[in-house]
Amino acid sequence: MKPYVGRADRLAQRAERLGLDLLLVSQLVNVRYLTGFTGTNGAFLVGPARRVFLTDFRYVERAKEEVPDFDRVRGREDMLESALEIALDAERDREGRVRLGFDESHMTVRAHAKLAERAGDRVELVPAGGLVEDLRAVKDEGEVSAIRAATAIADDLYRWLISEHGLAGHTEREIALTLERRAQDLGADGLSFPAIVAAAANGALPHAIPRRDAVIPRDTLVVVDLGCVLDSYRSDCTRTFATGEIDAEARDCYKLVRSAQEAALAATQPGADVRAVDRVARDAIAAAGRGDQFGHGLGHGVGLEVHEAPRLAPSATGSLEAGNVVTIEPGVYVPERFGIRIEDLVHVTAEGPEVMTSIPKELIVV
Ligand code: ZN
Ligand code: ZN
Repeated sequence: MKPYVGRADRLAQRAERLGLDLLLVSQLVNVRYLTGFTGTNGAFLVGPARRVFLTDFRYVERAKEEVPDFDRVRGREDMLESALEIALDAERDREGRVRLGFDESHMTVRAHAKLAERAGDRVELVPAGGLVEDLRAVKDEGEVSAIRAATAIADDLYRWLISEHGLAGHTEREIALTLERRAQDLGADGLSFPAIVAAAANGALPHAIPRRDAVIPRDTLVVVDLGCVLDSYRSDCTRTFATGEIDAEARDCYKLVRSAQEAALAATQPGADVRAVDRVARDAIAAAGRGDQFGHGLGHGVGLEVHEAPRLAPSATGSLEAGNVVTIEPGVYVPERFGIRIEDLVHVTAEGPEVMTSIPKELIVV
């Protein structure tokens, strides 16, 4: 069964609770989540009794196949204008002002000004962002299986890197590009984001860019962060490898990150406050005197996008729910020396955390 009708219904309920007559969804990932549409220009309008999918002439045929569950309207190239026309029609029908919700974080000031001018007094534009993102944070079984499958390919990719390809003697960039090709050979549609391969001091940058001219030496640490895309769903995983002997400080830091990561995994339970989960890892790292060497949030949701709700961080709010799929990825970054990050993908369930990633976490020498 296609899940789209249920998603649209849940969104309509939320829109109604905000007193909206119509909600305009214009961000493509959200449109895809709600309707199944895979083209590059589409929008979706949801109201108590209306579900209208809009696209332009290029996608009319595709929409017939991909979006069979909803009314389809061929709009102009500017979807927003077409959506507004539907809202204006609604206003005519009911002879009263229509409240049209839109996502303020995905609309330019210019687009908003244009809409507002045409809307006049007849349609009130109401900022109502984040509603679809909230729905997306809780995955259904089909989505969880897709993420599991994407994770399994990424795990195969890691196993291939560890046991067949190796790290030392190649440049960071060579490895990043090889991983991209190999992911496709293994059945992925691609990587979730350009792979991070960062040796020694480059690993101390959480968002390191693989260097073209940096040949990975023996006896250092290498951070590898990657995920795979399969059927639009993504995965995300980081492992830190050794290319030989590493010194006592690096070994201690590895143990510290691993134990902080495992403590946070155990805390990844439905109902847990997202800040409290972050704090479990942060406190463990701070207790070892390295609090200032862990400068990013503990994790993030993963699904159609590699960074989505919920966020686990000191500044985040809310609590985890069964159905969330989040990363748990503490790190310790020692400037000019090395970085260590360990990241697993976790499905939050009523029975406890299901760790999807299957790559071991003891320090592997590659
Ligand atoms: Zn990652
Ligand atoms: Zn991540």
